Amino acid sequence: MKGEKKPHVAALTVDVEDGVSIAMQDFFNIQMDPTDRVITNMNIILSMFDQNQVKATFFILGEIVEKYPELLRQIDKEGHEVGVHGYHHDQMFRLSPQKLETDLSRAKGLIEDAIGKQVNGFRAPAFSINQKTAWALDVIEKVGFTYDSSIFPSRSLRYGWNGFSKDICRLKLADSRSLIEFPLSVYRIPGKDIPVGGGGYLRYFPYWWTSKALKSIVSERPAVIYLHPYELDKEKYPDYFHKALASAPAKKRFQLQFYRYKKKTVESKLNLLTRQFGCAPMIEVLHEFEKQRKMKEYTVFDGKLINHSSQEL
Ligand SMILES: [Zn+2]
Repeated sequence: MKGEKKPHVAALTVDVEDGVSIAMQDFFNIQMDPTDRVITNMNIILSMFDQNQVKATFFILGEIVEKYPELLRQIDKEGHEVGVHGYHHDQMFRLSPQKLETDLSRAKGLIEDAIGKQVNGFRAPAFSINQKTAWALDVIEKVGFTYDSSIFPSRSLRYGWNGFSKDICRLKLADSRSLIEFPLSVYRIPGKDIPVGGGGYLRYFPYWWTSKALKSIVSERPAVIYLHPYELDKEKYPDYFHKALASAPAKKRFQLQFYRYKKKTVESKLNLLTRQFGCAPMIEVLHEFEKQRKMKEYTVFDGKLINHSSQEL
């Protein structure tokens, strides 16, 4: 490796959203605007990336761009890639194809007008593309994205498309159109593939475990690291959140414990990850992958993945 440039082995990604307003919406069905906490937490992330000299992809919500246009400009100015995470934080199963198209066009247009660059990537809120919401892939391409990174190739309670390709692949759509999918990383343990490299999985597992899993993944394919600004939030949530929590059913209070569990470990783990692995924005990792390997092609039909190369027509 002497004198060789360290290859980029992981796409470093951040889903830019405000944890307080999303928790109020998802857990208590109370709609509210994003709060300034997203700025405080993003400042921690941006200064860490600057210090470690790594660039990332920030999938940002349209509602955040509208309220905090300076944040978008800062991300772009510091040399990171900007992608879209939706307009509001609506999972795909809450939207119709028409509503998704309107929301994505709005968010993408807003960002492109502000930074004067084409936006290529999309990530669905809560990784909500699976067999049942596969229709969304067609809409994503139609709006003008070249790649998507929303699918966990595993079975899980909240999300996941079991049996989906673990490799970056090209999804063939109708009328000779296509979309690249950069699936989230999963690690094989006996009998199961489990998500790794971000969110709750980064919070719950000790660093050595995440590091071991990612090392194993990057020996076969590029990995994806992901996080949310609220995961670095160490402050107490506002009183209105605790009021809503106190009157919530026991099941919801229990779920929220997991949502916030072990947040204090995230900053140091993220720091170690960005030093240990060769990280880059997703679009760069995609381009490197395309140069090195032939991308597998699939057709998505009726929520099933059909291997294009083995299909005899
Ligand atoms: Zn999100």
